[in-house]
Amino acid sequence: MTTLPVYRWRLAPDGYATHRQLRALGLRPGGQEVAAQLERPRRRRGPLVAYLYRIDRAKPVRPMTPARRAALAKAMAARRTCPNCHRDAGYCIPRSLGMCVPCSDIESAA
Ligand SMILES: [Zn+2]
Repeated sequence: MTTLPVYRWRLAPDGYATHRQLRALGLRPGGQEVAAQLERPRRRRGPLVAYLYRIDRAKPVRPMTPARRAALAKAMAARRTCPNCHRDAGYCIPRSLGMCVPCSDIESAA
């Protein structure tokens, strides 16, 4: 296990940001390893740890391209399609039923 530099809460050096801070900047870690960690001591419990990434190695969040949007829509449509009647139920098929509600009603009535 590699040892990361540990900084006190609020004493993080410039150029480092947490995942949430990167997102606020429109950035993502971009595959880089965690560069450092922040620790906030807590009473009677282990310290609260936050992982820091280097801002200069961060990459912009991928913009939503038409291809990505289409892929996402396709994935959502698949989740809405009933495996029994193959119709778009208009909502995500409940995992507990495994099919759309009308199909489930027919199955349970049979
Ligand atoms: Zn159905």
